[in-house]
Amino acid sequence: MTNRKFTRRQAILTGTAGAAAAMSNLSFLPVNVENIKRLAVNGGEKVRSANWPAWPVWDQSAEADVISMLRSGKWWRGNGDYVAEFEKKYAGLMGTNRCLATASGTTALLVALHVLGVDAGDEVLVSPYTFIATYNVIFLNKALPVFVDTDPETFLINPLKIEERITERTSAILPVHIYGLPVDMDKLNAVAKKHSLKVVEDACQAWLGQYKGKKLGTLGDLGCFSFQNSKNLPTGEGGAVIGNNDEIMDRCHSFHNCGRPFGSVQPTSEYPVRGSNRRMQQIQAITLLSQMNRIEKDADIRLENAKYLDKKLAEIPGIVPAKLIAENSRSAYHLYPFRYISEKFGNVSRLKFIEALRAEGVPCSPGYGRQNKDGLIEEALNSKGYKRLFSEQRLKQWREENVLPGNDQLAREAVTFTQNILLGTKSDMDDIVNAVTKIYENRESLL
Ligand SMILES: *Cc1c(COP(=O)(O)O)cnc(C)c1O
Repeated sequence: MTNRKFTRRQAILTGTAGAAAAMSNLSFLPVNVENIKRLAVNGGEKVRSANWPAWPVWDQSAEADVISMLRSGKWWRGNGDYVAEFEKKYAGLMGTNRCLATASGTTALLVALHVLGVDAGDEVLVSPYTFIATYNVIFLNKALPVFVDTDPETFLINPLKIEERITERTSAILPVHIYGLPVDMDKLNAVAKKHSLKVVEDACQAWLGQYKGKKLGTLGDLGCFSFQNSKNLPTGEGGAVIGNNDEIMDRCHSFHNCGRPFGSVQPTSEYPVRGSNRRMQQIQAITLLSQMNRIEKDADIRLENAKYLDKKLAEIPGIVPAKLIAENSRSAYHLYPFRYISEKFGNVSRLKFIEALRAEGVPCSPGYGRQNKDGLIEEALNSKGYKRLFSEQRLKQWREENVLPGNDQLAREAVTFTQNILLGTKSDMDDIVNAVTKIYENRESLL
């Protein structure tokens, strides 16, 4: 039934009125042509009324472990094995020597920046187009985030603009594989090497994404992941740091466990180094172990659907899917991103377009805003600590250079679908394409 209706709608949307009437006669169902053609936001019939795949999806096979762990009282990694088991399995999936599980993605980034020596008064080069946690971890380390403009075509840090932002205080680069899209790491690493900078990849949206055949998160000194509830590998809250250097990973472990000795961090005293508590709980690891059973299959489904959308949506004027720069690369598609060029849609605003698409039954959102101008920046720069750490002249220059036309453009144009949408069928993807096409064809009715 749904299929037949879909076919009729297709004919009505794409064919002549006569063809549509003929189709409706064939199907022996009364069809209100006007109502189907009219945008849902203007009171017409929506393209899609069915639900989209739900997220997250609980795996019942994890229940026995959860119950026995709870009954045992072994709730933390100090007396249970699940966290270490997850670390081993995740390192295996990523192809790295080591993985350290943490309480969240934010804490993973905090551990990585601290261990790589990002210190008070340092500067960290970072992509402005990201979840706010990426800025926060730099501020929490009392360093200055220095934004490198975004290339709106890729949604990513523009590697050609990194070098001009380096000062004698710069200690690290924090590239973000936003939405799972791969940053051009060869270019970025070349700059890092030339200037002896550390590289921490914010791969908090990039599980199983690839750059030139290599997994995202394995291309810098350390890679950080998030397993928060909405993420493609979810466990409510959770994170991980991955890396190949045992000595650095030992220091990560030590720091995340109150600075206790670990591996090559020798017990010169009870607490040989500074630390914090950033540990993952057992229940987080049990959920993750079960969620890992589906992650590769899910990633393949998202990729296939995203490729289909890339092809179909690019045929609609004014819709520009994010561009992948490197060959043999793939996005993890935490979100599916494209740019909406309002001029090509008869100047219908992006927010009107989003409202119309939602009304057709396709959930979508604008991407990140101009966060480099958000309140937290001035709040930090005007704080007692930052005034002590950075000269008035440096902060003045920083404000003058906080002009990011590429990022501003993206903040105006981006539209995204969440990853669970990409877990649908090909016919679900057709609903998206049909809804966007319908809005394009009826764009004048939105003015
Ligand atoms: C989710 C996310 C984080 C933070 O992870 P949490 O687990 O929520 O602390 C950091 N960076 C990016 C890009 C993220 O998407």
